[in-house]
Amino acid sequence: MFSKKYFYYILLFLLLISLILAGVIWHSQNQKLKIIFFDVGQGDAIMISLGQNQILIDGGPSGQKEMEKLGKYIPFWDRKIEIVIATHPDQDHIGGLIDVMKNYKIGKVIDNSAENDSQVYKNYLEIIENKKIERLKGKEGMNIKIKDANLAIIYPNSILVNKPKDTNADSIVAKLTYGQNSFLFTGDFPLEKESALFSDKFDLSSKVLKISHHGSKNATSAEFLNKVGPVDAIISSGKNNTYGHPASELLERLKAKKIKVLRTDEKGDIEYICKNMENLCQISF
Ligand SMILES: [Zn+2]
Repeated sequence: MFSKKYFYYILLFLLLISLILAGVIWHSQNQKLKIIFFDVGQGDAIMISLGQNQILIDGGPSGQKEMEKLGKYIPFWDRKIEIVIATHPDQDHIGGLIDVMKNYKIGKVIDNSAENDSQVYKNYLEIIENKKIERLKGKEGMNIKIKDANLAIIYPNSILVNKPKDTNADSIVAKLTYGQNSFLFTGDFPLEKESALFSDKFDLSSKVLKISHHGSKNATSAEFLNKVGPVDAIISSGKNNTYGHPASELLERLKAKKIKVLRTDEKGDIEYICKNMENLCQISF
């Protein structure tokens, strides 16, 4: 004869299994494209997610913070991130990726192929090698599909061969298109190189623009804003950061064009949820 206690344990176990199954089913049926700009302090970390598929663009400066964010937005049974993109090898973009690569199964890593002498870059390479993660050198023409959405890399236009002095200069720039929705991600791309993007080859126009370089005055010119024509501008910067980001000059440029500004230091995580290709993605607060 089973004891009563034993019976309750089995009941509890079955209940738990049903709850997990219900969660998995609910999650798989509730597949909306989501674009989340994580509040990771002074740095960048953006996740594009659709059901079980995730693309992570940068990982912020700290592994602990980035892991907290992924734990919040990726269900616990999904331990794989399909694509990790490192826009450029600076601490505030790749620092958090090291713990992510240690703790999640990673499909592919795409970076701008710029080498660097920093310790964080050495750690980044080490984990890629140790876990035998496939590494691709990102450049113009590369397209990443996430169901009906497409992420197109539009910069750099060639694979880099040496160590650039300015690590920001060759940041990966990519545009996500999903029906009438579009998001432009610029890493820390500097103002003086923007003309390289002004070409008939690319349609820069985007509804949402991730402002370059945390809102530095030396990024995202008025001309660039004209080409992109965003409705919303996202600034990813840390509260009371020592760089004075976002710069008042940049905020003025946005104000002059009546672009709505959303800052991670003020709003925390900024999440867009896209119902379908026909409707505009909505911010969820
Ligand atoms: Zn940065």
